[in-house]
Amino acid sequence: MLYDFIVIGAGASGLFFAARAANLSVLLLERQNRAGRKLLLSGGGKCNVTNRAVGPENYFSRGSEAALLRRWLVPALKAWPAARMLEWLGRHGIRLEEREHGQMFCARGAGDLRDLLLELAARNGAELKLGQSIQALRHIPAAGGMAGGVAGGMGGAAWRFGPPQSGGAGGTAFQDPPARSCFEVISNGRSHFARRLLLACGGPAWPRAGATSLGAALARASGHKLVPASPALTPLSLPPDWPLHGLQGLSLPARLALPGLEAPAFTLPLLFTHQGLSGPACLQISTYLPLAPTVAETGLEIDFLPGQNLAELLDAPGNQRLNLTGLLRRLLPERLGAALVRGAGLEGQAARKLAELPRAARKQAVQAVQAHRCRPLAPAFDQAESSSGGVDLREINPANLESRLAPGLHFSGELIDVCGWLGGYNLHWAWASANLAASVHNKQERP
Ligand SMILES: Cc1cc2nc3c(=O)[nH]c(=O)nc-3n(C[C@H](O)[C@H](O)[C@H](O)COP(=O)(O)OP(=O)(O)OC[C@H]3O[C@@H](n4cnc5c(N)ncnc54)[C@H](O)[C@@H]3O)c2cc1C
Repeated sequence: MLYDFIVIGAGASGLFFAARAANLSVLLLERQNRAGRKLLLSGGGKCNVTNRAVGPENYFSRGSEAALLRRWLVPALKAWPAARMLEWLGRHGIRLEEREHGQMFCARGAGDLRDLLLELAARNGAELKLGQSIQALRHIPAAGGMAGGVAGGMGGAAWRFGPPQSGGAGGTAFQDPPARSCFEVISNGRSHFARRLLLACGGPAWPRAGATSLGAALARASGHKLVPASPALTPLSLPPDWPLHGLQGLSLPARLALPGLEAPAFTLPLLFTHQGLSGPACLQISTYLPLAPTVAETGLEIDFLPGQNLAELLDAPGNQRLNLTGLLRRLLPERLGAALVRGAGLEGQAARKLAELPRAARKQAVQAVQAHRCRPLAPAFDQAESSSGGVDLREINPANLESRLAPGLHFSGELIDVCGWLGGYNLHWAWASANLAASVHNKQERP
């Protein structure tokens, strides 16, 4: 059988593709024994499925400038805006629950949505094969296509991944193709053919949910450049000499920024952990750390009194009878105030009345509380909810997410160098990217 599409990866974007590809014959090949595993654990099991307001400004690309990213995202986000996703979910009976900042969760749990995607995919006739191990893959170009070198013209260049050249051991021999210009995927010793291939194998974040590097390896084999992947939306560890260790469990609103970099600042709840920091403000800023090769020098900057002006409060006539400890106790959790005073070396001054506090000490206090600098250790993928990096945007056509280098090859979701903010934006990207690939081909190939 020659499928219209083989989709590698039955996670969020692969399943959504199959659910939206009403006019296409689709084979989904999934490594794990169940589909949508990351989706099931997303949003603490309730899946923050989208956000009321989704725009290009809610995304980050490690390898492309913000202006290019914004232009590049427009076709996908325009074709599948948040309102469309919400309408689609409502039409299919998924009950939603709205939380702060427009975050939309599945009220009955992520399983509701995963089951719906499986049902729609099956209704469209998509075949799902679980427990698959992809052994080899090749692109057979149309007659006139080049073998090797830069792709172009009819069907582009032939490319392959995996061991067999001609013949192979253990059921990995390529077969006679049913047509020119198609893909052959050998999985669990069986050959499958399709006119097009969608790589929906996700990124390297949260490896215990089954992330693998196959998507990156296949993209590379087809001639693509990979922007190095980095953990995103992750808690951060701080070195042992960080003065704010020991405050685990404490949470407060704070503004986190990366000074000197073109990264947004986030004013959101911040949580102290055993290792360092977590909470929404930390997760959001962590995505932008790869922009900061100099973060070891400049550091992450934290304002523990966002929207307030400690310098003015220290000078306010009504506060002059207080001491620094007393004033900070009114503004901050006591343990944090004490740790900041200790960290700034102001313990000797903390008991003096503000009226007697030297100018230099005032400045130091402001610095410690409203421009606290720390230098996070390089994060790992283990606790990261997402990853930045992946297939370079410049090599993918934003109109249909088809490779500009390898015709017939498409990408979706986290494998692309697009990383969303916390708040439903990553899953929204999975939906929007899969929808675009499916809808363009629904129209183009089956009018
Ligand atoms: C703990 C956690 C919570 C999250 N919560 C949210 C949230 O609430 N809201 C939000 O927007 N985002 C959330 N995310 C991010 C979101 O889950 C991902 O961005 C999204 O799932 C990416 O979709 P995808 O289709 O690109 O990849 P995935 O959903 O990861 O799917 C990739 C699929 O490919 C399969 N695969 C991998 N390698 C192979 C291979 N070699 N052969 C065959 N198949 C393979 C995988 O098994 C997987 O099924 C969360 C992530 C984590 C880890």
